[in-house]
Amino acid sequence: MSHTFDDRVVVPGLGKQIALDMGCLPVEDEMGTYFDAPEIDIDAYDRIVIGMSGGKDSLASLLRLVDMGVDLSKVELWHHDVDGREGSSLMDWKFMADYNRQIAEAFVVPIYFSWLEGGFEGEMLKENAYSKPHKFEGPEGLVTLERDTTRSAPNTRLKFPQVSASLQTRWCSSALKIDVARRQLNNQARFNGKKCLFITGERRQESSNRAKYNQFEPHSCDRRAGRLARHVDAWRPVLHWDEEQVWDALKRHGIIAPVPYRLGWGRSSCMTCIYNSPRIWATISHYFPERARIIAGYEDQFGVTISRDRINVLDVSRHVEPFEIDDLEALEQALKSEYTLPVVQSPRQPWQLPAGAFGNEGCGSD
Ligand code: SF4
Repeated sequence: MSHTFDDRVVVPGLGKQIALDMGCLPVEDEMGTYFDAPEIDIDAYDRIVIGMSGGKDSLASLLRLVDMGVDLSKVELWHHDVDGREGSSLMDWKFMADYNRQIAEAFVVPIYFSWLEGGFEGEMLKENAYSKPHKFEGPEGLVTLERDTTRSAPNTRLKFPQVSASLQTRWCSSALKIDVARRQLNNQARFNGKKCLFITGERRQESSNRAKYNQFEPHSCDRRAGRLARHVDAWRPVLHWDEEQVWDALKRHGIIAPVPYRLGWGRSSCMTCIYNSPRIWATISHYFPERARIIAGYEDQFGVTISRDRINVLDVSRHVEPFEIDDLEALEQALKSEYTLPVVQSPRQPWQLPAGAFGNEGCGSD
């Protein structure tokens, strides 16, 4: 196994020559794109940003850096508040922002939040209007990025994003995460003239789409050859990991499995994600009925459902058995905005694999 990895090692600082000397030339172009790059010369970077959702794979990415002995003073976490901060709580787990804050605290790294004003709900209700500004926090405080309304016409959504590989149809990922991070990188002078590594926690095992991802490539915000000399590489440090390796990393570091997995979810993304299976909707309807009712209300109002079969989330799950949740502590936490459980376990406690581990119930994309 380690030989396979060694054969595939690509150190960006040494580039193509190393790969040629080792007799293996990974998928690569002149800019440095590698299909397999499980190890990189991470010390070459001035700043390391981890896109931290609070799910197991982004946590595993952070833990991988810890295992590599990375200087954590270079690391910062970025978390996108899907619901924004203007009062909506339509999609995300209520505690997710606070959970991420506490993870950052546990590892003594800064965390910067960013969001689209009005969040998912505001964007979905857009009617002949422009999208709201993006907001992000940085070392200097809160920054608001207005929209350039001279380049496009106002438009209307009035429907949920649709399950699709296309980011135009599944607009939530781009509008609430990808675009926000892009503007966050492009609008901070502190990255100019610096080498920045942008880390995300996708894994090839998750889907046939992700199986095709490159592990290392220039980030779309890279301008290394431009006036700003902003060098940004994207690296997916756990792209080649299987789920067992992810849970093992959390166990070794004593990170308690995040609440969604304890409730039976196989992935931790938006609680009311458009990818939720009927069984997940049945579980939401049973334990958090108000959340499901609001979503179904919007589906009826728009005349367009999340399901391609034109069945709203209440009907889609009506005759389906919900999970039987016996982790009452996690269930109670799911109702609160403040995260009151520990994120790291005490050394005396045995680590517990959560109910949702290795499950195949559909929930979450990104
Ligand atoms: S987790 Fe689901 S609903 Fe939330 S942004 Fe991603 S695809 Fe959209």
